[in-house]
Amino acid sequence: MSDAKVHSVTPEWAERAFIDWDKYQEMYARSVEDPNGFWGEQAQRIDWIKPFTKVKNTSYDYHNVSIKWFEDGTLNASVNCIDRHLADRADQVAIIWEGDEPSDDKHITYRQLHEYVCRLANVMKAHGVKKGDRVTIYMPMIPEAAYAMLACARIGAIHSVVFGGFSPDSLANRIEDCRSDFVITSDEGVRGGRKIPLKANTDKAIERAEKDGASVRNVLVVKRTGGDVAMKEGRDLWYHEEIEKVEADCPPEEMGAEDPLFILYTSGSTGKPKGVMHTTGGYMVYTSITHQYVFDYHDGDIYWCTADVGWVTGHSYIVYGPLANGATTLMFEGVPNYPSGSRFWEVCDKHGVNIFYTAPTAIRALMGAGDEAVTKTSRKSLRLLGSVGEPINPEAWEWYYRVVGEERCPVVDTWWQTETGGILITPLPGAIAQKPGSATKPFFGVQPAVVDNEGNLLEGATEGNLVILDSWPGQMRTVYGDHDRFVQTYFATYKGNYFTGDGCRRDADGDYWITGRVDDVLNVSGHRMGTAEVESALVAHPKVSEAAVVGYPHNIKGQGIYCYVTLMAGEEPTDELKKELRNWVRSEIGPIASPDLIQFAPGLPKTRSGKIMRRILRKIAEDDFSNLGDTSTLAEPAVVDDLVEHRQNRA
Ligand code: ATP
Ligand code: MG
Repeated sequence: MSDAKVHSVTPEWAERAFIDWDKYQEMYARSVEDPNGFWGEQAQRIDWIKPFTKVKNTSYDYHNVSIKWFEDGTLNASVNCIDRHLADRADQVAIIWEGDEPSDDKHITYRQLHEYVCRLANVMKAHGVKKGDRVTIYMPMIPEAAYAMLACARIGAIHSVVFGGFSPDSLANRIEDCRSDFVITSDEGVRGGRKIPLKANTDKAIERAEKDGASVRNVLVVKRTGGDVAMKEGRDLWYHEEIEKVEADCPPEEMGAEDPLFILYTSGSTGKPKGVMHTTGGYMVYTSITHQYVFDYHDGDIYWCTADVGWVTGHSYIVYGPLANGATTLMFEGVPNYPSGSRFWEVCDKHGVNIFYTAPTAIRALMGAGDEAVTKTSRKSLRLLGSVGEPINPEAWEWYYRVVGEERCPVVDTWWQTETGGILITPLPGAIAQKPGSATKPFFGVQPAVVDNEGNLLEGATEGNLVILDSWPGQMRTVYGDHDRFVQTYFATYKGNYFTGDGCRRDADGDYWITGRVDDVLNVSGHRMGTAEVESALVAHPKVSEAAVVGYPHNIKGQGIYCYVTLMAGEEPTDELKKELRNWVRSEIGPIASPDLIQFAPGLPKTRSGKIMRRILRKIAEDDFSNLGDTSTLAEPAVVDDLVEHRQNRA
C-alpha cells in the first residue's frame, strides 16, 4: 500500500468548498495551539440561552479523567435543531422520509417538525417524564424516531436509542442498564418487505427486564403498519391518540452544556456494549461543524446518510448535525437491495440527493452484485460520497468513486467512533487529497498520535496504536453509571492519552490509515500486519466480494493467517481458487502475508450495523467455539453454525 493512489483535490472543489488547503492548515494550527479561542468562536454556530464564559476544561490524567466543554453555558438541542430555523426556513423541508416501498414517502418541513416534536414532548411530560429521566427509543426508521429523540432533548430527558433490529434480550439489557422507565416503539417495523414485531419484542423485553427489577411505567406506540398488537391497559399508549390531547407548543428546558443529551450503546463488535454518554453543548457544536465542513454542506443541498438512527452515525449525521445546520436530511426506512439492488441510486435520483454517506459493508455488497444495477440509474445530482464504519478496502473505494460517483465526486473516508461523537479523521473535500483506504488527516482540534505497545510516541512514517492526545468538544464524557469503566477502557492503556482501540499506520505525507482494531493485528513470524491489509488484498481479487482475516495459533510462525472469503455472485468455491488466492496475496503483499487457511464463507458474522465480528471468527479459527462470548449483537446467528461446520482448522 506504499504506492497508494492519490486523488488530488480538483480546482472546482478547492474553489467551491468552505475549506481549501490553506484554510485547513491555518484553522487546524489555531485549533490545537489555541483551543479556547478556536472553539470559543466556533461555538457561536450554536444558539446559547446563557453564553458560556469557560471553553475547555478537560483532564486526561489517569487519576482524574474529566471532560467539560462550555460548562457554564446553557442551551437546548431541539431549539438549535428546529426553533432557530423557523424565522427563515419554516417551510423548507427538514426531513425527507423514504419508506420501505418506493411509493411511500413524506416531506416534513421545519414548521411541521416543530409541531410534532412539541406535541410528543408534551405527551411525555403529561405522563411524568422529567429532566434527567432515561427514555428508550426502539423504533423503525420513521420520522417519529427523530421526533422522539428531539422531544427528549426538548424536555431534558436522556434518550437511549436501541436499534430496531435488536432482539428482546438486547433491548431488555439496555432498558435495565440505564434504568429507563419510558419506552417509545411502534407496532411493527418494515424492512425489505419483511415485518419486524417491535411492540411484541418490547413486551417480551419489559417482561424480562422487570423480572430483573426494572420497572417500565409507559410504552408509547406509534402505528406504522396497523398490525395487530396487544396493548396493556394502564401502561401502553397510542401515539396518535396522545398527541391530539396536548398543545402544539412546548417550551424548551434550559439545559447546562454538560447535561446529558443521550446514552448510546456501542455496536458490540468487541464485547459487552458500553453505555456511551454524550452531553449537550460540545456535542452540538462538534456535530454541526463536522457536518458542514466534512460534507461541505451548503444551503439547499439534499443530504442522505443511510445509517440507522440506532447507531451513532444516525444520531450525529442524520439528526443532530444536519438539523443544527438547517439542512434537508433524508431518512430511509428500507435496505439497499429491496425491491432491487438499484434502490440506493433510485432514491438518489428520486430526491435529487447531492451528498451520500454510507458504510463499506453496503458498498462491498453492492459491488458484489455488479455494475449494471448502478449504471442504469442517473445519479447526476450526486456531488460528494462518504464512507464510515470499517476500513474501506481500496478496491471498494475505487469502485465507489468510479462506478457510483463517475470520478466526479470526492470520497470522504471518515474515521470515528460512538465514543468520539463525531468525525475525527477524514479528508475535507476541498482541502485534502484522498487516498483510497486512508482516512487521511485530523479534523480541527483533533490530535492523533501513534504509540508503540509501551506507549512511546512514534514520529514520522510509522505504525502502531492510534491515540488522541487531547480532548475535542464531541468526546463522550463517561460510560453511563460506570465512570471507572470509562477510565479503564480508554485512559488506562496509554496513560495521559485517549486510546481508540484501533491500530493505524501513518505515511510519509502524515496521512492516517486505520488498520483495524489492535486486537486484530497479526503477528506472523515476528512481522506485525493489520488484518485490513490482507483483507484488502483479497477483496482486490476479481472473484472476491468480501473477506475477513484473523490469526490463529501456529506452531512455527506463532500466528497463522486464516481467511474467510465470500465470493462474487456466481463464482465456484474450488481448491484451484484457493491456490490462486494464496498466490494473489503473496504477490500483492509478499510471502509473509500468504494465507495459511482459506475458508469459503457464504456469509460472515456481522453486528447489526454490518461490521464483521472478528472476535467470533478468531474463536472458530482457533477451533475453540465453546464460548463465543456475547453474541446478542449478531445480525444472523445462523451464519456462525455454517462457519463452524466448515472450519478448516480441526484439532
Ligand atoms: P464496540 O466498541 O462495542 O466493539 P464498535 O467499535 O464497532 O463496537 P462503533 O463505535 O460503531 O462500535 O465503531 C467504531 C469503530 O469502527 C472504530 O473504532 C473503527 O474500528 C471502525 N471504523 C469506523 N470508521 C472507520 C473508518 N473510516 N476506517 C476504519 N475503521 C473505521
Ligand atoms: Mg469500539
